[in-house]
Amino acid sequence: MGIVRLIYVSKLAVGFGPNDVLKIVDVSEKNNRELGITGALCYGPRYFLQCLEGPRDAVNTLYNTIIRDERHTDVTLLYYADIEERVFDEWAMASVRANDVTKQIILRFGVGKQFDPYMFSAKQAVRFLSAVVEERRRFLESEKREIDTARQP
Ligand code: FAD
Repeated sequence: MGIVRLIYVSKLAVGFGPNDVLKIVDVSEKNNRELGITGALCYGPRYFLQCLEGPRDAVNTLYNTIIRDERHTDVTLLYYADIEERVFDEWAMASVRANDVTKQIILRFGVGKQFDPYMFSAKQAVRFLSAVVEERRRFLESEKREIDTARQP
């Protein structure tokens, strides 16, 4: 069976907040690893932007679960296609808070000063997610290097 990429945007539902998002991220990492799904989730105080990549049946079934989740609303499909290779192959679910994304990246994709993924085209969405995940990876690596250096006698 081939692999597919699916990208959607949605809005955090009223009554839910950062702790609910952390629970979603935790469950997603665990479940996606078991399902052979990789991807990325960028979330702000109001919006989600998620990319799922993996076996067609697994991605379709998961998306059907996700769209019924009451913790978000206005789920809008941006992209669905067969792919030859994954972009987020290192991540069961890379998650990045929009507040941690530099303004430079937000500006580069020309969607104003705030994170509003409803403004993205499908192409922009995947490029934006790749950029924020790469930025996050570099940040975590440099933080780890600093800790390692500080620990050296
Ligand atoms: P469950 O046992 O059903 O739930 C795990 C925990 O999540 C529960 O103990 C509870 O604390 C909490 N929870 C579940 N549903 C609710 C609810 N309606 N209200 C409040 N708390 C609740 N799942 C994935 O597996 N992979 C993903 O990539 C993924 N991405 C998501 C992205 C978004 C934006 C949202 C809103 C949800 C996403 N989910 C994802 C969650 C998905 O909708 C299902 O909740 C999840 O797959 C069910 O997994 P489970 O049966 O293992 O966990």
